[in-house]
Amino acid sequence: MLDERTARFLHLKYSEFYRASSLRVERVEQREFGFGDFENAIVKRHIGFRNSRVFNQYLAASAPASVSVSSAFYSLPEARPMEKKGWLGSELVFDLDASDLHLPCQQKHGRSWVCSTCLDSVKRETIKLVEDFLVPDFGISKGSISINFSGNRGYHVHVSDRRFYPLKAGERKQITDYVTGTGLSLKSLFPTLGERETDEESGGKRYKTLRGPKYRDPGWRGKLAAAVISALNSGYEALVKMGVDAPTAKRLIRNKANIIFGITTGNWDQIDIPHKERFWANALGSIAISQTSAIDRNVTSGIEHLIRLPGTLHPGTGLQAKPVQDVESFDPMKAAPFFRDGHVRVKTTKVPEFSMNGLPFGPFDGKTVELPTYAAVYLILKKTAVLA
Ligand SMILES: [Zn+2]
Repeated sequence: MLDERTARFLHLKYSEFYRASSLRVERVEQREFGFGDFENAIVKRHIGFRNSRVFNQYLAASAPASVSVSSAFYSLPEARPMEKKGWLGSELVFDLDASDLHLPCQQKHGRSWVCSTCLDSVKRETIKLVEDFLVPDFGISKGSISINFSGNRGYHVHVSDRRFYPLKAGERKQITDYVTGTGLSLKSLFPTLGERETDEESGGKRYKTLRGPKYRDPGWRGKLAAAVISALNSGYEALVKMGVDAPTAKRLIRNKANIIFGITTGNWDQIDIPHKERFWANALGSIAISQTSAIDRNVTSGIEHLIRLPGTLHPGTGLQAKPVQDVESFDPMKAAPFFRDGHVRVKTTKVPEFSMNGLPFGPFDGKTVELPTYAAVYLILKKTAVLA
């Protein structure tokens, strides 16, 4: 729980933000809204607004710590229980969070902190989702995809393509299974894997030729072929990273030209590796989207889910959940701090080095320091500092 002085300080800051901003929500009158405090993202929900003006007036007056919106459209967004709302369809939404990526840096700084490696990795994952799956495999135009910084450790990808609006939970689950490679069987990619046949000359048994995906095959087949070719071209390190042992990796590199030629025609016989299962699991894992925990939270498959409203402040960081124009060059710690005026004195606990607004801060360990307001708010909400 926040003490009274901190709660008042934060409320004042969030009020400044909502009085200065005007948010636009598409089909606002058909959305369900949820509001929360600094402890719980959603304290009340089933709230609707007639139009943007009323909605923005409400935000300016109440300065909520957390604002969420339904990815669904309803004829009666305020009705309860859910069945009475009159569901009209839902946008397709993906939630990518650095804490789902199980990065080595998180063991050092913990799951609630976020470093530049975390932010960069989750950005790569977001680009992969859009460029390798949504656009080529689902035929979604870039114009109907909007990427939003989550305000903390990740990105939300909103697809506003009407073809997806009617999909029910089960169908949405199939989409998440596809992008995460869940339930993908090696046997479907390599039909002759592990099968033997009789050698006509010797009469003995031998493995059948390993037939597999070709480079230009659609969907997962082509992605797998491309990933293995790219690992071979990147060299030794890339293969070892995929679970190939050192002597095998050297042998594969020596045979690279033959192997790549084979893969382009669908013949994978040349890629003879011990511990195949681990290699394939790693190869598939490197292509798939790591979104497992977000699926558990039902973000994509849940048609009734509420997600942070783009443009609002995050209750755990004070950062703005900014719509992202150019994801490649987007740096959340530069673009998302809002409280750029003034300084605030805070007493820190253990805080790793970090950078905001292009400036380096920390590391701190119990020191009382004067910080720009955005950095002070960030540390207070990350529970690594208190007002001094
Ligand atoms: Zn990290």
